[in-house]
Amino acid sequence: MSALPMSVTRKTFDQVMVPNYAPNEIVPVRGEGVRLWDQQGREYLDFACGIAVTGLGHCHPKLVAALTAQANRLWHVSNVMTNEPALRLAQRLTELSFASKVFFANSGSEANEAAFKLARKHASLHHAPDKREIIAFHNAFHGRTLFAVSVGGQAKYTQGFEPLPGGITHLPFNDLSALEQAISAKTCAVVMEPVQGEGGVTPATREFALGVRRLCTQHQALLIYDEVQTGNGRSGTFFAHEQYGVVPDVLTTAKGLGGGFPVAAMLTTDDLAASLGFGTHGSTYGGNPLATAVALAAVEEIARPETLANVAARGEQLRRGVSELAGRYGLFEELRGLGLLLGAPMSAAWRGRAKDVVTACLRHGLWTLVAGPEVVRMAPSLLITEAEMAEGLRRMDAACAELAALPRVSNG
Ligand code: PMP
Repeated sequence: MSALPMSVTRKTFDQVMVPNYAPNEIVPVRGEGVRLWDQQGREYLDFACGIAVTGLGHCHPKLVAALTAQANRLWHVSNVMTNEPALRLAQRLTELSFASKVFFANSGSEANEAAFKLARKHASLHHAPDKREIIAFHNAFHGRTLFAVSVGGQAKYTQGFEPLPGGITHLPFNDLSALEQAISAKTCAVVMEPVQGEGGVTPATREFALGVRRLCTQHQALLIYDEVQTGNGRSGTFFAHEQYGVVPDVLTTAKGLGGGFPVAAMLTTDDLAASLGFGTHGSTYGGNPLATAVALAAVEEIARPETLANVAARGEQLRRGVSELAGRYGLFEELRGLGLLLGAPMSAAWRGRAKDVVTACLRHGLWTLVAGPEVVRMAPSLLITEAEMAEGLRRMDAACAELAALPRVSNG
């Protein structure tokens, strides 16, 4: 073994990694606040946050301090013993939400897995044997474990993985009458994202959100809110459901919770939590002291009124700025989203070319995301300043100008 670190590049990915991803050519090596640097030392403004994860920017000093302090103290004990950071984080999350009980996991998929299992288990203990159906929505994304991906509403992600878990019904999103017709005594849960993130940054309408709550209560079905992407301040409130005036029975979250350290949580009520009794579910790493110590520091920063006010103000600035670009270059239709989770749908002339915008932005030093082929997604740090946002918008302006000046490619 050489004493020097091995030299690795993007090409190494193709040699040694399973090809389920197609990462960009850029290999980031360092981050600070809203900025990233790649192997060549090029700087980027980060409007992606590692898919809406690093909500407090890169290497936030308080998160680094929490992580290093805990790293020198205690890393892992498993669920055979509890630990102080997990208890403190659970306590804080119950203070900040409707919930009074918390289950920790390591990813959004796992938090959803726990929620779906809770719904089935609760129905098995308290209702008729045929109350097993989970209703979810087209274009929903709930993760990649077999249960989560089956509940998710995109067939391309389940193809070839059959047989899939049964008892799952998919309905059109924001279509209350479809739910009204489908929901029944057999439904044990309805799961929705307040804003469908991966599916195109599509917010639920207020009418739909309120209607889903009413129908769930009426049919004794649990309402599960997947706030893996919308939670932890991203929407401008700690959780997005607060803006809809709807209280779910179960809420899942991850991504921004650890600010980049893998951690997830399922939140619920005392009554429902009782259905996941001793031995019914578990995770070796879930609630690990390292993860929960970082998440506690992140939650404290996110919950500050100044942070949430900044999300609202910078969200407006971003919305205004991208709307101006839409007017100037004709690439985008009307923006949608909440807080600092914004989607710019491609206009008819640019159908299917969201990826081209992301690539052009990268050439101009700005990292954005797609949400499917039709939507450019932006999810910058909740702590981004007005000047940093303006700089990002200037870079996006340059990228859009470059695209608009190209000879028009026909989409056939
Ligand atoms: N639910 C939603 C709403 C998500 O956006 C995601 C991730 N994009 C997941 C679940 C899955 O989370 P993870 O990748 O951490 O398993």
